[in-house]
Amino acid sequence: MQECLAGLVASFSSFSLPTASVSSFNAPMHCPRCKEVDTGVVDSRIAEDGRAIRRRRECPKCAHRFTTFERQELSNLIVVKRDGTREPYSRSKIERGVWIACTKRPVRQEQIDALLTKLEEKWGGNKGEVSSATIGNDVMRALHKIDKVAYIRFASVHREFKDVEEFKEELGKLFK
Ligand SMILES: [Zn+2]
Repeated sequence: MQECLAGLVASFSSFSLPTASVSSFNAPMHCPRCKEVDTGVVDSRIAEDGRAIRRRRECPKCAHRFTTFERQELSNLIVVKRDGTREPYSRSKIERGVWIACTKRPVRQEQIDALLTKLEEKWGGNKGEVSSATIGNDVMRALHKIDKVAYIRFASVHREFKDVEEFKEELGKLFK
């Protein structure tokens, strides 16, 4: 466990979110069996009363077939940022941050889909606005239940720990 903690602390200092524009990002539909990234669509149909598209996909590498749901973004939700400015909510932007935290962790696309869909129901129930702090905290809490390493990576970005000591303290609480 000590080695594990040391490794996490070491990776903390080098871990940060890229600042490049992420609005055009689409989550990779990798094969859940062999992780091949370039999977093909076999069939598409409308689901959830038009709010989602259900796609059957097939992996060209291992021929595994699986289903994905691609959802419309919450088009009328506004995110209030820390500095008070506002921008339209973007699921793909948040999903990208989550996936960066989940890099090389045993986390499945379905888990992230379910996590975000559930939280969007909550955020969408607000008065059309949600703060970026709320989004960050909610995602953090949900990630904690899925994968502890992904959680601590996400938290290290979202919470902006002051120094390594504060980060270690959070890790200590987590692995007690
Ligand atoms: Zn495959």
